[in-house]
Amino acid sequence: MPMKTMHIGLDDTDSPRKGCTTYVAAILVEKLQRLRAEFIDYPNLIRLNPNVPWKTRGNGALCLRMRYSQSDEERIKEAAINTVEEHADLEHKGTDPGIVFFERARIPNEVKTFSRNAITGIVNLKVALKLLKKCKVEAVGFKKGRGVIGGLAAIGAILEDDHTFEILAYRIPENRGSKRKVDQASIFQMNKATAPYTFNNVDQETRRILITPRGPDPIFFGIRGETADIVKKAFEIVQPLEPVERWVIFRTNQGTDAHLRGVKQLSQIKPHRPVVATGTVATNPKIIPRRHVIFSIKDRSAQIDCAAYEPTGLLRKVARKLIVGDYVEVYGGARAPSQDHPLTINLEKIRILKIAPEIIYHNPACRKCGKRLKSLGRNKGFRCRKCGSRYLELTKVEVKMKREIREGIYITSPRSQRHLTKPSLRYGVEKRYRPVKRLAKDWHFP
Ligand SMILES: [Zn+2]
Repeated sequence: MPMKTMHIGLDDTDSPRKGCTTYVAAILVEKLQRLRAEFIDYPNLIRLNPNVPWKTRGNGALCLRMRYSQSDEERIKEAAINTVEEHADLEHKGTDPGIVFFERARIPNEVKTFSRNAITGIVNLKVALKLLKKCKVEAVGFKKGRGVIGGLAAIGAILEDDHTFEILAYRIPENRGSKRKVDQASIFQMNKATAPYTFNNVDQETRRILITPRGPDPIFFGIRGETADIVKKAFEIVQPLEPVERWVIFRTNQGTDAHLRGVKQLSQIKPHRPVVATGTVATNPKIIPRRHVIFSIKDRSAQIDCAAYEPTGLLRKVARKLIVGDYVEVYGGARAPSQDHPLTINLEKIRILKIAPEIIYHNPACRKCGKRLKSLGRNKGFRCRKCGSRYLELTKVEVKMKREIREGIYITSPRSQRHLTKPSLRYGVEKRYRPVKRLAKDWHFP
């Protein structure tokens, strides 16, 4: 029997109360392994545009890429459909799973483009269905079938520009919903032994552990890093205090900034798009209730608000110190205008390109007694309150203040980073496309 190649895309199987599409993929890996599928890549975990308003969770889609014997084809598809049926939260109103079976080795450029659009912007079901039809691709949608959008997008995301890895460990069903039990000290030990090749394990500012999610989903913990080997090594250092049902290493676009797309001018910014834009600070930062910092930037085309939220910690501190005239590059998701605010960029990062001089004006000192003079009003001169001398000809003295911020890039603290946000540790270690030649010996269990 000749071997064929298939890419299976999956999305939208979970709900806020139950499940996780990575878990469906993990179960499917085990089943496909038994059907003698040969994986040609680690399962891909592709994070799509985090600013899509109807997506409240991580917005992650999955793709399994494999070679298989044609005689197993029907059983492979059946396994995928059964696994989604069994593990998706189909009773939840907003959960509309989709599976895409792409039976060709090469991914066409238009599917790659579709994928890029789903990561950086908004795509709709109609466009996805049209593309599936054009490429003669089989897809299965449950309920509204919106998951085929993410399924196709995951297939088209071949991680050409950069990628990272994440090992995800899952809990046994009876523990889901309860507090996750893991030896905290072992996590700090793991971080010490493997960072910077692993990242976002802990938040240094608050000492908070970031590898364990909260909530009822089946994920026990996840460790992110640069290679499959390092996340596996890190996983072995962490001491779980509850059973691990299974684990899988994923290759992913997390931590790569793949969602951000540059705009040439501010007038091109559209709601729900993650953008990179440059401009000059046009209004000094102000602190609004709940301690958010808002300032605006402008260029020749438009002026737009930027917001650094309280949980963003470090970024918010820097944003507060900007002044009119600073030249900056801002990174973040554009929030649609509402009654309360205009179109606003929710900041993930700021690069300060050029800081403006900060000049304040003092009244001059009295020439007789040295006391700071009092102004008598605009162009009316000054008077000394101590000795009574008057000075008509003097003007205010310019003082150049020392700025407290420097040029450079500032990123939200790890605890408030998006899945896609590239952390500072990853600058300079981006991985250009290298097809996976061989998978690590152990990349999943069972
Ligand atoms: Zn005086």
